[in-house]
Amino acid sequence: MPVKIDKSSSKAGAAAVSIDSDGTYLELDEKGQKHYLKKATITLSDCLACSGCVTSAETVLLQQQSQAELLRVIQDNEHFKEIGDIDKVKVVVLSLSPQSRASLAVDHKLTDVQQAGGKLVTFFKKLGVQYVFDTTFSRDFSLLESAREFVRRYKSSSDKSLPMLTSACPGWVCYAEKVHGSFVLPYISTAKSPQQVMGSLVKDYFAKLLMKRPDQLFHVAVMPCFDKKLEASRSDFYDDVSHSKDVDCVLTTGEVNALIKEQEVVLSNLDVQQFDKPFSGSGVDDIYVHAGGGAGGYLEAVLNYSANKLFGLELKDISYKNLRNKDMREVVVKIDEKTELKFAAAYGFRNIQNLMQKLRRGRCNYHFVEVMACPSGCLNGGGQIHASLKADAAKVILPQVEQIYNGLKVKLPEENEAVQVLYREWLQGDSVESCSIEKLLHTTYHHIETQTTSLAIKW
Ligand code: SF4
Repeated sequence: MPVKIDKSSSKAGAAAVSIDSDGTYLELDEKGQKHYLKKATITLSDCLACSGCVTSAETVLLQQQSQAELLRVIQDNEHFKEIGDIDKVKVVVLSLSPQSRASLAVDHKLTDVQQAGGKLVTFFKKLGVQYVFDTTFSRDFSLLESAREFVRRYKSSSDKSLPMLTSACPGWVCYAEKVHGSFVLPYISTAKSPQQVMGSLVKDYFAKLLMKRPDQLFHVAVMPCFDKKLEASRSDFYDDVSHSKDVDCVLTTGEVNALIKEQEVVLSNLDVQQFDKPFSGSGVDDIYVHAGGGAGGYLEAVLNYSANKLFGLELKDISYKNLRNKDMREVVVKIDEKTELKFAAAYGFRNIQNLMQKLRRGRCNYHFVEVMACPSGCLNGGGQIHASLKADAAKVILPQVEQIYNGLKVKLPEENEAVQVLYREWLQGDSVESCSIEKLLHTTYHHIETQTTSLAIKW
């Protein structure tokens, strides 16, 4: 498939914009030197005149994470191969989220989700991507690390160990850092999201497997929301030694769909290929899903694991009770007369705001909360294809996306043998003291001072 490139939108050699740990924007030159960008002064009238809340630095950052950037790298690769400058050829690796796969399957009328995944693998490989991974695999690590962390916190006597709040949603994490800052950060799990675990896996383990430096790999993630672009740009996920980001470019599902159309490809006509394995071995036979819905199944994975590790229970069914609305649900597991595990899922900022109020007033009696910024979770993310439709049309599509997402066999993260092998080979065991686990699978958060008086926004 000859790659079609719109050269006008392709920016060769643009300096990389990143977000530092204190939330300021900086440019990294080719040697990895940091140049802090000046803060823009914006008046209220500027605010009202603009069409969104994206700053100019964010615009550059978003341009760097675009279809044009992926095509530029693929085109540069062809050029460097032609002139024999092989050291400059990058290995292009793409990690596809299961939420994006489901959205694309529905849009292209592919009812078999296994096949839809296989056709997408073929599309990306014809485009010039060498390896295509499924982020369900890295989510196994994210779920397991969240569960192990929860068990440690439950046993700990620290005031701020519970409730443990999930960390996989950058929309929520960004809000927590800016609005609630140091008050809430200790409650947030330190486990990296599936996108960033895949970043560690690709730029650390997989690069070594290929005998390449991390900067010789260009890692693209396909995700259901724009917030994942900001997550990939955090300085926590930039390696000063190799001058390399764990995830170089995030494309939303809608952007990939635009790319498919731009390339004039009919997805249903393509062959089916297997996803690659991000570890030694050939393709992946079957793709699978985690129980508990399109936001990743954190509540169920942590509940199953901790009920077993703490109380020796094997949970058969997990039944949810809707509270104020379908995006605020809770699960209570009675252990004995005196003990219970009380978990909740809070989706959308309206529910998150209520949760934060309870936490501040000392009236939040949950042990664990799966917190996600989007109502209905990641299958309904702002980067999904139906997100660009009118609300009525989007409402019809969402149940179809949910149905196809769930149309796979369900696996517990601890059932994945390859994950256990990688704990041994890549992370030198699963001990809490393992420096590799801390560095590669966990992260930190930062209180971000906002300069303006925040308005009392109600969702
Ligand atoms: S809930 Fe929404 S913002 Fe958060 S990770 Fe999922 S899609 Fe992105």
